[in-house]
Amino acid sequence: MLAYTYIKQGKFELIEKPKPELKDTRDAIVRVTLSSICTSDLHIKHGGVPRAVPGVTIGHEMVGVVEQTGADVTLVKPGDRVVVNVETFCGKCFFCQHGYVNNCIDPNGGWALGCRIDGGQTEYVRVPYADQGLSLIPETVTDEQALFVGDILATGFWAARISEITEEDTVLIIGAGPTGICTLLSVMLKNPQCIIVCEKAEERIHFVREHYPQVEVVTPEKCKDFVLQKSAHGGADVVLEVAGGEETFRLAWECARPNAIVTIVALYDRPQILPLPDMYGKNLIFKTGGVDGCDCVTILHLIEEGKIDTTPLITHRFPLDRIEEAYRLFENKEDGVIKVAVTEKAAVTESVNQK
Ligand SMILES: [Zn+2]
Ligand SMILES: [Zn+2]
Repeated sequence: MLAYTYIKQGKFELIEKPKPELKDTRDAIVRVTLSSICTSDLHIKHGGVPRAVPGVTIGHEMVGVVEQTGADVTLVKPGDRVVVNVETFCGKCFFCQHGYVNNCIDPNGGWALGCRIDGGQTEYVRVPYADQGLSLIPETVTDEQALFVGDILATGFWAARISEITEEDTVLIIGAGPTGICTLLSVMLKNPQCIIVCEKAEERIHFVREHYPQVEVVTPEKCKDFVLQKSAHGGADVVLEVAGGEETFRLAWECARPNAIVTIVALYDRPQILPLPDMYGKNLIFKTGGVDGCDCVTILHLIEEGKIDTTPLITHRFPLDRIEEAYRLFENKEDGVIKVAVTEKAAVTESVNQK
């Protein structure tokens, strides 16, 4: 089968590999029907993820059909359509039991697929702990609707969940990339009084204005003043930082009102400084971390009910055998790309731009 593989730093290649086999009674083999490319894949390519193993198949956002299950898998059976969770977790350890699945103590716990073990930019993938790592897709939900449930949408949903948002709040979301939009969609479910999105890229500003006219959009230069204007207590009640830059980190705590919650969703490529003397007396609550991806079933139901729709994020489609082209486009941010859907190899041969 074809597998898009991490060869060495700076190089991915589509190569032939044997079809994966069950290794454990809790494994499942899934035929990948749709996958996507994530910025984290690019981090692997450029050496930003030291734990990534050369030779590994890339890809951790995917949906598919269960092909085979181990003897101890009870939740899914061959033929079921499923979302694959970005995180591998045992479901039994202290952290899993408390919903902190990102910190599962299993040697393959956390983000393993497409990083430390073979992932989903291929034809078949082995999913460990299938009862935890797979969620059934409701019949009326399409593959495209479910594509981001296991990764970026799980992230946005988790971020909104831990941010303790109330209906009186002014919420600032910094960054309107794919994860920023997923965060926005999840924040919208909490019905805060005002949502402000801070973004500098013109195309992304346009995207937010076009799809979510009820949301305020502001550029980073004007953000602080704008937030002050829109909030009753000297800043945002909740800030979600999804951009991952030095300036945006600073902006996050600067725009927060005293005693606000600042949730750091972004993944930074270097340490950030918390200037505690400048922040003294603001008494902020910081929440940081990687997604605890344990809400996939809830999210799939919200999609089924029409409350979350991430399909506008899919701007381009490529079959697996043309994944190199998809990467080039995604990496160079060409043609207004937001997210690429990678279909099975024999399927669509034309890339469709839905802009
Ligand atoms: Zn990702
Ligand atoms: Zn665990």
